[in-house]
Amino acid sequence: MPNITGHTELVGLMAYPIRHSQSPMTHNLAYDKNGDDVIQLAFEVDNSTLESAVESIRALKMLGSNISMPNKTVVHKYLDDVDEAAKLCGAINTVVNERDENGAVTGHLKGYNTDGMGYWQAIKEEGIDFKGMKMVLIGTGGAATAIAVRGALDGIGQLDIFNIKDKSYSRGEEIVDIINKNTGCKAEMHDLADLALLKEKMQAADIFCDATGVGMHPLEDLSNIPDTSYFRKDLIVTDTVYAPRETVMMKQAKEAGCERVYNGMGMMLFQALIAIELYTGKKTPVDYMKEKLGI
Ligand code: NAD
Repeated sequence: MPNITGHTELVGLMAYPIRHSQSPMTHNLAYDKNGDDVIQLAFEVDNSTLESAVESIRALKMLGSNISMPNKTVVHKYLDDVDEAAKLCGAINTVVNERDENGAVTGHLKGYNTDGMGYWQAIKEEGIDFKGMKMVLIGTGGAATAIAVRGALDGIGQLDIFNIKDKSYSRGEEIVDIINKNTGCKAEMHDLADLALLKEKMQAADIFCDATGVGMHPLEDLSNIPDTSYFRKDLIVTDTVYAPRETVMMKQAKEAGCERVYNGMGMMLFQALIAIELYTGKKTPVDYMKEKLGI
């Protein structure tokens, strides 16, 4: 039980639905470990109440708030500033109430996207230097977009994005255009139905990511990859899914002999730890969090 006093500071989590979220557990474990008198609480906030909820960050002098669906692509309207990657990918998951030189919150709110930062931090933590790498990414939704933009800004050399031709395909085309115009990365968009091209690109890639949710309930028995022949042994294979811990795609990669195969737990942990550092300035011990969260 945290020792809540008149000094305890508040971080929010604004989304709907939100009661299932693991975020308060992760954040509160970290604040406790870091010796910070801070708690995170979840609030049911949708687009209709978002503006007043964001205003309450200023009014209540909160340290900030995590933002999840359906608010990630809307919240920028109520902020004072937005970080470059969040601006390019059009989604914010962390709002920071910036501090003055004395450490007091100022009411000046800045938005970040720590999903993309979290994914790439998890890769770095595995000792992988991804600068100049060729990546194949499946997905054009929130997770994929954040990973693509952050990776392109941080030095991925070539990015081949594949998606089914659903309503989010055009978002992929926009992101490819944004990446080509704003970063040194060469990006291309492809139809996931072109399996010969997918195989060719995967054979030539250094890192692969499935960021679609295929492999997770209710699609837990499925993989976007038809068979093990698509994987080269030295391909770095990642999935944004963390439940189950091993997706069908990850099993295929291991069967093909890939040794560096990672689920979405690292991305989930580091997006939280980066947000926590933005709120408090403190780095949380990674091994402690991994042990506590069973990662
Ligand atoms: P989203 O709804 O924004 O995007 C879903 C993507 O999957 C789209 O590109 C869509 O076209 C594609 N898709 C949907 N159904 C498909 C199918 N049957 N076959 C192939 N592609 C299909 O979702 P999102 O927020 O980007 O989340 C995607 C996945 O990433 C989810 O599994 C989510 O849990 C995970 N995620 C993980 C983290 C983390 O921290 N590890 C963070 C965010 C999201």
